[in-house]
This record gives sequence, C-alpha cells and structure tokens, in this order.
Amino acid sequence: MDIAVAGVGYVGLVTAACLAEKGHKVACVDVDVEKVALLQRGKSPIYEPGLEELIRKNRERLLFTADYAAACRRADVIIIAVGTPEEPDGSVNLQYVWEAAKQIAQTVEKDCVVAVKSTVPVGTSDQVERWIYEHRKHPVHIEVVANPEFLSQGTAIKDTLHASRIVLGVESPHAEKVMKEVYDPFYLPYVVTDRKSAEMVKYASNVFLALKISYINEIANLCEMVGANIEDVAEGMGMDPRIGSRFLRAGIGYGGSCFPKDTKALRWLADGCDYELKTVQAAMEVNESQKVKLIEKARTYVSHFRGLEVAVLGLTFKPGTDDIREAPSLANIAVLLEEGANVRVWDPVGMENAKRVFPKEITYCSTIEEAVANADICFIFTEWPEIRQFDVRQYANLMKTPLVLDGRNCYSLASAREAGIIYESIGRKRVC
Ligand code: NAD
Repeated sequence: MDIAVAGVGYVGLVTAACLAEKGHKVACVDVDVEKVALLQRGKSPIYEPGLEELIRKNRERLLFTADYAAACRRADVIIIAVGTPEEPDGSVNLQYVWEAAKQIAQTVEKDCVVAVKSTVPVGTSDQVERWIYEHRKHPVHIEVVANPEFLSQGTAIKDTLHASRIVLGVESPHAEKVMKEVYDPFYLPYVVTDRKSAEMVKYASNVFLALKISYINEIANLCEMVGANIEDVAEGMGMDPRIGSRFLRAGIGYGGSCFPKDTKALRWLADGCDYELKTVQAAMEVNESQKVKLIEKARTYVSHFRGLEVAVLGLTFKPGTDDIREAPSLANIAVLLEEGANVRVWDPVGMENAKRVFPKEITYCSTIEEAVANADICFIFTEWPEIRQFDVRQYANLMKTPLVLDGRNCYSLASAREAGIIYESIGRKRVC
C-alpha cells in the first residue's frame, strides 16, 4: 500500500520503518526540515535501538519530505503521528494535529483513510473527520480511524513488530478493511471498536501503568519503614498472573513524554464530566513526591548541597532512549543547582538533549569514572546497563565520600556492602 506518515518523532519514524519492513511504501512528512534532511542522508534524528539500521535496510520503500503534497496526494492511508503535548491546565494541545489535518485536507487527491495514531482526547478523531471532510480541496472520500499506539521508547521496534494488539476505532466496514490491509502483514491480534472507545483504550492503558508504578513505589516506601525488601515483594507479586511482573520496579517515579501528560489529560477529561478520578489523582501525587525521594534521603547525610561535588548518572527518563522529557533527573538537577552544588553528569545518549536544558550549568563527562571522581555524593537516575554493570567498588575507590543514592536499584545490597559504600536505594535497607 501507499502510506503517508505525518510526524517523524519517536512514534511516526518507528511506525514508518516497520511498515516499510512489512513491504509498504511509506512517505514521511515532517515540518522540521532539519529532521527531514538528516533522514534523507540515512541518519536517524532520534536514538532508538535498531532504528537507523531498519531505515537504511528499507530505504527504497521510504521517502522523507517536508512537502505534504508529495507525501499525501496519492496515499491510500495517512497516519497522523504528530506530538500532542500538554497545556498548563493539563488539557491536550491539539495544534499539531489540526495543522496536519489542514495539510491533509488541502493535498489529498484520492479516496483515503486517515489514521490518528497520536494520543488524543476522546472525540478528537470524530472532529478530525468532520474538519477534513468540510475543508477537503478535492471531492474525495476520506474516513478517519482512531489507531492509538502502545510502543515504549527503547524497545519501540520490537513493540511495533510484535505488538500485543492493534486497536482500530472505526465507524465503517470500509475503514476497518483498509486498516487491516495495513496491519495484516504483522499477524497481530486486532481489537476493533468505535473511535471513542479506541481513544479511551489508549488513555486507560497508559494511566493504568502509571497507577501500577505509583502503587509499587508506595509499597516500596512502606517496605523501607517496616524493613521489608521491595525486590522480593515485587517478585512475589509479579509471579501472580493476575498481577504480572512488568511495571513493578520501584524507583523514583515515572517520567517521559507520555505518562505525565496522559494522566493529566485523563483527569482533565473527567473534570469536564464533573467526575473525580481519585485513583489517578493519587498516582500523580505519589509520583511527584517520589521524584524527589533521593534528595530527601541525601539530606539525612548532608546539611546542604552548597559547594558539594555531585555526580549524576543517567539523565534520560528510562534506558534505551535519548529522551529526557519529564525525566526525574531534570527536577533533581534543578534542586541541586539551586542549592549551589557542582553537578557532573554522565549518560550514554541523553547528554545532547540535556545540553538544551542546562547548556553551561553542569559538567558533561565522557565516562562514569570521570563523573564520580572526587564526588561527595552520587545520584543514579536511570538504570542504563553501563551503570548496572559498573563495578561498585569503583565508587569506594574514586569518590571523596562513597555515598551512592540509587533511584533505580541498580546494585545488590550484598555488592554494596562488600564494596564498603554508603548505599541508599528504593524500598530496601540502607547499607552503611
Ligand atoms: P515527537 O515529539 O517525538 O514527534 C512529533 C513529530 O511531529 C516531530 O518530529 C514534529 O516535528 C512533528 N510535527 C509537528 N507538527 C507537525 C505537522 N503539522 N506536520 C508534520 N509533522 C509535524 O512525539 P512522539 O513521542 O513521537 O509522540 C507522537 C504522539 O504519539 C503523541 O501524541 C504521543 O502522546 C503519542 N505516543 C507516544 C509514545 C512514545 O513513547 N513517545 C508512545 C505512544 C504514543
């Protein structure tokens, strides 16, 4: 099929590469001309394992352009995968979706299906269809489908090629048939429903995962108080198939471009219906306090951060991505800087993005050793494999005071004890 994808961010680009891998011809259009230029040279503008290789492998079926007409004019299906950031009041900014819809309405010259893959409030796909229909330049038949995305950054290609389900929110058998032609080569289970329910599946799923994270984090906090070990507790819980082991890793809270914004958007939707989503509100509050948990722990060892050498390992909101949007590291670094600490950071791929937030205020190091050398305190915010595999004894050898505050439980308590470091983690006994 001829498919167009609007927006080559984490979702659009991975989707496009995977659709090309399955034999479709995919034209990608983005308003960011720098991204398009990079892609035309075979380079990925984002870090996602295996993505650049997949793009290169399928380059003959992939086109990158900033020209909507070139991408959409003759497409059978147009996928909207632009960003939907949050507004200060928690509602969703749909500006980019409307811009994409406008371009599509002006450029399509044949019947097509438009699939909204961006995460959008319930009812948006209905509005997009009405809008495109009213503003289309040519008398063509256009139907809109809600087709939410569930991939996770860091494992996005696997998540797309082997997704747990394809959700199709359709209002006609024709739209369902066309969308199944897109996804049949993936051999994945379908959930076919109406547009509003499909949009709700996305929010309800994401927010459920956020709740699961906040729940395990609260249990971790309680474990610390009563002397239990959250790793063992989570293992024992996760073996129950009714619970499942994923998203039961205690830590310093969720971040990224999805969970924080999607929880707020669902609450905003409920507010509009005069309904209070109490569980969601609680999960958000728990996450906010969890984010600064390590700073609180650090204050039990030092009276202030002024003039202290502070090492920060891990900047991205999770391993496997260069994305630092809403990463807990940012809020913590901001506190450390405000209180006068000298901050030295290391992250394998997140430092370029961090330089846009902290261009001069912090020191970027090329190795973990460089970041921790002579440090008074070390904070760990992301469980990168390089950090997990780092020899714990090195903290004792290199730091001024071997005080390690680990927000992702990277090391066993036994290894910390053996190395002779002071080690604080989440939901486990302190080692000192
Ligand atoms: P992103 O910010 O990485 O990418 C968005 C892209 O859209 C950018 O390249 C931007 O230049 C482009 N864009 C903006 N306006 C445009 C326009 N008018 N026409 C064409 N391109 C335009 O965003 P993302 O992380 O890929 O997320 C996209 C959507 O998918 C969001 O709604 C998000 O909530 C949802 N989602 C994201 C994830 C994830 O893990 N990142 C997972 C599932 C769903």
